[in-house]
Amino acid sequence: MSSAATDSAPIAGESMISAQQVCKNFGALQVLKGISLEVSRGEVMCLIGPSGSGKSTFLRCINHLEQVNAGRLYVDGELVGYREKGGRLYELHPREAARQRRDIGMVFQHFNLFPHRTALENVIEAPTQVKKIRKAEAVTRAEELLDRVGLADKAGSYPAQLSGGQQQRVAIARALAMDPKLMLFDEPTSALDPELVGEVLGVMRELAASGMTMVVVTHEMGFAREVADQLVFMDGGVVVESGEPRGLLSDPQHERTKAFLSRIL
Ligand code: ADP
Ligand code: MG
Repeated sequence: MSSAATDSAPIAGESMISAQQVCKNFGALQVLKGISLEVSRGEVMCLIGPSGSGKSTFLRCINHLEQVNAGRLYVDGELVGYREKGGRLYELHPREAARQRRDIGMVFQHFNLFPHRTALENVIEAPTQVKKIRKAEAVTRAEELLDRVGLADKAGSYPAQLSGGQQQRVAIARALAMDPKLMLFDEPTSALDPELVGEVLGVMRELAASGMTMVVVTHEMGFAREVADQLVFMDGGVVVESGEPRGLLSDPQHERTKAFLSRIL
């Protein structure tokens, strides 16, 4: 273990994510105003809330695509983007920050596949380029992953030859190819035609059942109700309410949660 890790204050061993008063602003705009939450290993957390409430920004902080301005954000016991020594924070070396990010898979609303690469080539890209895994080995693993998301027969297809649902399943396989310990989904079905939503949610459901720790920003309340262990409602950069999904959906405690749910349910 590196000295950086031992210098960092250890935190509760069970948490995959521990956010403690996380704040993020863009200039004068305060987007996250003290987010505190915990996601245990193997847990699925669904994050809901109106547009502009800071959901994507929070996911991006977890993945260190954004740097938090205040508070503490830990992933798997490590402070994201910083190390702590003698009560002070020091920014991580970019190489260390990249190592942290490598262990976190992210799936976006717009699949962001490489258009000039086949499904298989998309999936092997990061393992071969970033992890330096031998191509033959990466191909075998990619074929397994494409099979797992139901696309064994599409390995040679280019993104433009695939439906949105198929492209999103390739994007999930691509993220899994890096063997992440945590998967982040930012509205993964929002750009899909309604009839294609189910196939993507099905893959996510299986992934959850396999024990993957997941944070899912979604408007799919059926998925949240059935799959999430924890449902978090964010509004205006704060967690308004969180809890077990069935309870929260059937009996929301706060006016803002009620208003939001009445708009989308
Ligand atoms: P959500 O995902 O809940 O819709 P976002 O996290 O995308 O919300 O955005 C929250 C707020 O932060 C919005 O007002 C958005 O305009 C602002 N924002 C997000 N990213 C940036 C950025 N890079 N620079 C400036 N403002 C941003
Ligand atoms: Mg968003």
